[in-house]
Amino acid sequence: MFASVSTLKSVLNIKSLSSLRFYSNTIKITNNNSSIISSRITSKRNMSKRKNNDVVEIVDNDDTIDLDDIDEHDCDSHHEDDTEDELSIPTLQKEVESNKKLNSIVNNSTTKVTATAAAKKPAALKQTVISSFFTKVDQPADVHTDKEYLDSRAKKTTTTTPTTTTASTTPPKKKTKKSKEVTILVDYDKNEKYVPELQYSASKKEKMDGIKIGAHMSIKGGIPSLIKSAIDKGFKAIAFFVATPRSWRGPKINAEDAKSFKEECTKHNFSPKYMMPHGSYFLNLGSPEADKLEKSRNLFLAEMKCCEELGITLYNFHPGSHLNMISEEESIKVIAESINYAHKHTSTVTAVIECTAGQGTNLGYKFEHLRDIIALVDDKTRVGVCLDTCHMFAAGYNIDSYLGCQKVFQEFDRIVGFSYLRGIHLNDSKAKCGEKLDRHENIDKGHIGSPCFRYMVNDNRFFHIPMILETEGSHIEEVKQLYSYIKEDNQEK
Ligand SMILES: [Zn+2]
Ligand SMILES: [Zn+2]
Repeated sequence: MFASVSTLKSVLNIKSLSSLRFYSNTIKITNNNSSIISSRITSKRNMSKRKNNDVVEIVDNDDTIDLDDIDEHDCDSHHEDDTEDELSIPTLQKEVESNKKLNSIVNNSTTKVTATAAAKKPAALKQTVISSFFTKVDQPADVHTDKEYLDSRAKKTTTTTPTTTTASTTPPKKKTKKSKEVTILVDYDKNEKYVPELQYSASKKEKMDGIKIGAHMSIKGGIPSLIKSAIDKGFKAIAFFVATPRSWRGPKINAEDAKSFKEECTKHNFSPKYMMPHGSYFLNLGSPEADKLEKSRNLFLAEMKCCEELGITLYNFHPGSHLNMISEEESIKVIAESINYAHKHTSTVTAVIECTAGQGTNLGYKFEHLRDIIALVDDKTRVGVCLDTCHMFAAGYNIDSYLGCQKVFQEFDRIVGFSYLRGIHLNDSKAKCGEKLDRHENIDKGHIGSPCFRYMVNDNRFFHIPMILETEGSHIEEVKQLYSYIKEDNQEK
């Protein structure tokens, strides 16, 4: 079993860690109750199949947590360059220091992590090395510095007309690091002036009524209490997991809870059409492995049925990963078959495919993938897409300006079509455009920045589409902030 470190963090509920990075071959993790998990970092042999992913092998003592394959689907997981071939002694020493820091941080939290093997010499390290870290939003270990950010902006001014290009950025910092390959799918020309498209303008009142912003919420307090809580927080749209997102167990919502949930919706006049539960991270509906595919399809169907019981018509999920075992085209076919299978056994819920950052072997990072999946789905009335701003940007769609948004959404409309748009995930990005890293950041705090969000809340093509924040924090202020971006007309200020 393998899991990314962010999953480990979630399983163990380690929230207080600000930074974790270690180079060793074994860690043991215990908490106050008992020893629940020990984990061993995989060998390079295992790593090779999962390039760019932080992988930790998990040995689960109580046999209830199944962590197969989830690193491929992990939202907001943290990934480093493959540095195996380039580690220098100073780098190594730095990592050993980080390792010590980790222990001191962890010892102060409720969970204890002990590195049982010291960091090794670079030669040996090549066999076992892995970099892993947790990051807290307000103490980011990996967030780009302002200088890097400005450099990247400056670099953009020299980039090209809006075409599909593959460029290689050369970070000025360490020579020992490989330059990261960055793929830009849609860019814009900085010299071109943004001209608002008048057909998408609306009055301020229409915008305030039409734009439905909210956030992903926890169902810890029970599904029925979700609605009141959303309203108290000023949310007009919500998402949540109908089951534990990192488990194969599936939803366990009883009929009574489903009934009172629906009553709450009616009572508070909160339409289920602004609710879009998120599917399990375990799903791989395009899996090349028969057993995983079957498990994924069963879980997918169970979650969709659960949405139907709750009276919800939108259900959002990540399309899947080819795991380098089959081609993208073959995997896309498998994904479409998975949707067709679920459609046969449901009647009202729409399968909403989320675009991805293209991390690992995830599909859905290009609009063409979404189009091709839809093309193979029999019932087109119950398939749609969810655009995640962080994922789009990381995948190479440059939406860091009004003009960029105009170009990218034109491209989306041309390839997929706004008629298939069912949901939006509003997230800024810690990763730069085209880096293919799925790292969510709070609104306006990342490399996307405020113009994108200002653009979207003023465009009537997003009216009545649930817009869900998947960022850290309570979201109350972020939702208010986003509504404050709604203005009288579409002129750029
Ligand atoms: Zn997602
Ligand atoms: Zn998302």
